[in-house]
Amino acid sequence: MDNKELFDKLTGLALSLGAFRATVIPVEDMETDASFRDLCAANVCGNYGRNWMCPPDAGDIRDLMAALRTYSYALVYQTVSELEDSYDFEGMMEAGVAHNRLMIQLREKLSAENLPRVLHLGAGGCRMCEVCAKRTGEPCRHPDLAVASLETYGVNVSKLAPTAGMKYINGKDTVTYFGAVLFDL
Ligand code: SF4
Repeated sequence: MDNKELFDKLTGLALSLGAFRATVIPVEDMETDASFRDLCAANVCGNYGRNWMCPPDAGDIRDLMAALRTYSYALVYQTVSELEDSYDFEGMMEAGVAHNRLMIQLREKLSAENLPRVLHLGAGGCRMCEVCAKRTGEPCRHPDLAVASLETYGVNVSKLAPTAGMKYINGKDTVTYFGAVLFDL
């Protein structure tokens, strides 16, 4: 299978699972910025220091940015969900759960492709457990399944969107989440 055939297959997989848009880009086209760690530290989402895959426990952002650069390609995908209005916090949470569900299904399907190395990055803190073990002072329950966010690895998602030919925001009363699967051939 040549690269284009594989990239089309991976893109088709993400779309078949409900992604709004998906494409494969070279990792070298992904812009990263260490200043995202300051945004995480502001803890607007409440996960800072309360999720093993979020800062500061996920690791130094410069190390994570360097780790990201060791991959060749990224399957970038986005999900778009309707909200009742721009204050629909519950709808945003449900959209985040649906995005995570797609990520889990994508991971299962991609395991059949036998790619040599894969790193899944999602949106927000890891949602594999209802309550992250970090909050109860226990070790991560599923280190092999735990997923960090794109921002934790320093990815500038607002710039990733146009790089991948996508819109960062997809209309009034909608919420858009991004995910990426980094891989080598
Ligand atoms: S797998 Fe569970 S314990 Fe580990 S980071 Fe994710 S939510 Fe937390």
